[in-house]
Amino acid sequence: AYRYTVVHDVSEIHKAKEIIQESERKFRNLYESLSLAYLIIKDGVCIDCNEAAIAIYGAKEKDGVVGKSPIDYSPEFQPNQRRSSEEAQRHFNIANEQGFHTFEWLAMRANKEVFYCEVSLKKFYHKDQLYFQCLTNDITERKRVESELIAERDRAEQNERKFRQLADNLNDVVWYRADNRLVYINPAFEKVYGIPVDDFYKDQRLLMKAIHPDDVQKYQDVLHSEEFLTNGNFYCEYRIIKSDNDIRWIISKSYPVIDNQGEKTTQRVGLAMDITDLKRIELELIEAREKAEESDRLKTAFLQNMSHEIRTPLNAICGFSSFLEDDDTTKDERKKHVQIIQNNSNQLLAIVTDVLTVSSLETKQVQINYSKVCVNHVFDELLTVFNQQISNQVISIFTQKSLSDQQSTIYTDKTKFTQIVSNLLTNALKFTNQGRVELGYQLIHDQIEFFVKDSGIGIKPELHQKIFERFRQADKKIQINYGGSGLGLSICKGFVELLGGRIWVESELGKGATFYFTLPYLPVDTTEITTVINDTPQGA
Ligand code: ADP
Repeated sequence: AYRYTVVHDVSEIHKAKEIIQESERKFRNLYESLSLAYLIIKDGVCIDCNEAAIAIYGAKEKDGVVGKSPIDYSPEFQPNQRRSSEEAQRHFNIANEQGFHTFEWLAMRANKEVFYCEVSLKKFYHKDQLYFQCLTNDITERKRVESELIAERDRAEQNERKFRQLADNLNDVVWYRADNRLVYINPAFEKVYGIPVDDFYKDQRLLMKAIHPDDVQKYQDVLHSEEFLTNGNFYCEYRIIKSDNDIRWIISKSYPVIDNQGEKTTQRVGLAMDITDLKRIELELIEAREKAEESDRLKTAFLQNMSHEIRTPLNAICGFSSFLEDDDTTKDERKKHVQIIQNNSNQLLAIVTDVLTVSSLETKQVQINYSKVCVNHVFDELLTVFNQQISNQVISIFTQKSLSDQQSTIYTDKTKFTQIVSNLLTNALKFTNQGRVELGYQLIHDQIEFFVKDSGIGIKPELHQKIFERFRQADKKIQINYGGSGLGLSICKGFVELLGGRIWVESELGKGATFYFTLPYLPVDTTEITTVINDTPQGA
């Protein structure tokens, strides 16, 4: 700053001189102590500079800077490929026009090392002469940090781009939350949850609304769990109902983001995926395992039953054949014993045949032998046999033949058909202590539907499917009270299905049972059908 003093006498002049000298000294001190390089430039040449300027340019002494042009301390070109001399001229022009101008400059030290600096030019006049005051600041360090920051930012942006590309193309859901605000969720969200991403950004309760009502509590429980509240880890498997009413299984996990110090932050990442297919496989595996265990149990029970079923007739055969040797046995007694032996042999044969049939059904080695079979005649033959068996029981068998003999003659496998009906009749009689058993059929479109109806002990509805499985009996009491191997119905089912039909039962416990099965109606005679109904008691 300039000081104007009104001079009155010599002492005052002297005083004024001192003041000026003092002020100049202070200014000089300030000027020298500046860590910024300070130069005064006139006509493009430095006329004075401070110590810092000598240091910054790497000159040995003041003369190394004073008397030189700033171009001497610059490389030939600036980073923008312009000549330093032209660029310097341009900056001086701007400073001249504006009075003040700051810009970045690539300068060069005496040892040719280039460095970035920030230059501030300020014009001033002294005694009508134009000067520039030039402050130069070495910004090499700042530039370095700046470029590191830029590189860091580029790296971060690149990572972000990579992450987005990955996340955008994932089939599973990924999300990112900061301070409870959803920052990012990938497009898979819409595919998995059926909720548009934009809607979800606006209203995150949409997710809760999608959760299957039966699983809402489970989800809430996880949100209130120790693991979530103290450790911040969330894990839940739940079902959702998608917009198209499609029920899907979801597994969802989330956890807090850990910072560089290993501390949990208020940010969270989450993952979710549709595991419906996995769940299905899991359920199938569980089912398969249960089935295997069940079949194992059934086989054990079967072996126990079998040993009983085989031993009983064998014991009878052995016992009564030894009586035959006995000389004291009368002719009549002998006849009876032979009868018992024959009955038990037949029973044994039946059991062995059943076991063989089941195993050939299982290995799919059963052949179908089609022939003309008159259903009415098969019924008659069976009635003759079974009526002999029940002659001493309080039971009657009725048949209902709804077609003429001719119309009831179809193409099927006679042996198998006979065995199906025979097995069903055997059961009906076995599980009916008194009352009636009906045997009949009905033509429904292109199928004949057969039925064997009894008034016996009946079967619980939950066993209606199971009793058709191999070795399966309704319960333990059945074996104790009625014996049997649990094979009869599985043979029926195997044969019926082989012949192109199906088999089922309608029954309630204690109210009798009606077994139905169908066979394709393949009549030998294709003339019109006249229905004959014949309901005659045949038993005693
Ligand atoms: P088994 O009669 O040798 O035990 P089946 O396969 O023929 O084997 O029958 C399986 C089970 O189904 C029987 O043990 C019995 O519990 C039940 N069942 C079959 N037929 C009848 C019926 N008419 N009334 C009641 N229960 C029956």
